Amino acid sequence: MNVPLLDLKLQYKSLKHDLDAAVQSVVESQYFILGPEVEKMERAMNAYIGCKHSLGVSSGTDALLLALMAIGIEPGDEVIVPTYSFFATAGVVSRLNAIPVFVDIDMLSYNIDPKKILPKITSKTKAIIPVHLYGQSAPMDEIMKIAQEHNLYVIEDGAQAIGADYKDGRRTGTIGNIGCFSFFPSKNLGCFGDGGLVTTNDPVLAEKMKYLRVHGMNPKYYHKYIGGNFRIDALQAAVLSVKLPHLDGWSAKRRENAKLYTDLFIKSGLSEKPGMTVFNDKNKVLLPKAIYDESGVHNYHIYNQFIIRVQHRDVVRKYITEQGIGNDVYYPVSFHEQECFRSLNQGNDYPSANAAARESLALPIFPELTKEQIEYVVSTINAVVQKQ
Ligand SMILES: *Cc1c(COP(=O)(O)O)cnc(C)c1O
Repeated sequence: MNVPLLDLKLQYKSLKHDLDAAVQSVVESQYFILGPEVEKMERAMNAYIGCKHSLGVSSGTDALLLALMAIGIEPGDEVIVPTYSFFATAGVVSRLNAIPVFVDIDMLSYNIDPKKILPKITSKTKAIIPVHLYGQSAPMDEIMKIAQEHNLYVIEDGAQAIGADYKDGRRTGTIGNIGCFSFFPSKNLGCFGDGGLVTTNDPVLAEKMKYLRVHGMNPKYYHKYIGGNFRIDALQAAVLSVKLPHLDGWSAKRRENAKLYTDLFIKSGLSEKPGMTVFNDKNKVLLPKAIYDESGVHNYHIYNQFIIRVQHRDVVRKYITEQGIGNDVYYPVSFHEQECFRSLNQGNDYPSANAAARESLALPIFPELTKEQIEYVVSTINAVVQKQ
């Protein structure tokens, strides 16, 4: 059986009529950059995310860069980031000649470990970028408390988490000073190319980001700041307006798929329960879990990725690839081990990130997967793992 990691054609087929009409209408209008389609999408995002201001931008990476420019990050400033994320989270810091300061992750959630932030704060620290990795909120209460105590900005990297809730029901992207999202096609809400979004409840930051998105310009050819071209296309906005009403349904399907994986892995004897962090005879596959607080309130995890951990990961990977199962590793190399960051000399004391880089494996989780496909993935992993 063939099970791709992601098949976007199925989603396109289900919305083809509306998507084609939306694209056609932008083409007819010949209004391609920013403009009414973008404003319409931004209003819909305000309502969906629950924030006062949204601005469509050119990508998730540019959303992060724009956010850091808006809070005034300068050369030599330090910005705290988890060492385990997509490259953009740290890359944007270095692009402003500031210093990304790496912090280990929590082994259960794969998100930044708040207990490890404090020792990394110095007089140069200006901001923290928590990442809501794989579709689950970072521990925002702990992070906001540290930020308030040390007068730091918080920029949420929600590229993988549009529509995820923090445990008390607040949407990711509304808790820190600025939220950043990506509409790269493989995210839960993808457009037909590159696109992104910044969100904020702060009118001053909103206004500054609006300037910075168009070279710091307003009115035309009068430049208050040095910004960039961070504009989103009207075509992408039109596509997003068609897809947004379906996002919650897709996220619910991803959660159902995650539940089915979990049930099947437990039934096959490969795992006792989700959220185990140590391998043993009863836990040869470690399953993800939405974290919860003392009162048992869970994060609303939207599973942009479904990540298991296995020993001998590369052997497992090779076998399931040969059996037709799409998979990937997010991410094989943490920031502290990247060649381009070697000169930062930030050591190797990141045991959880190192374990995740060695053992994590992403399985297909997209909404249109069938029960048979998920059963096949679990039985194939069972065949290779039980042999070890
Ligand atoms: C995808 C992603 C980004 C970058 O988004 P692009 O739209 O690809 O530029 C940033 N951070 C994280 C965590 C991501 O997953």
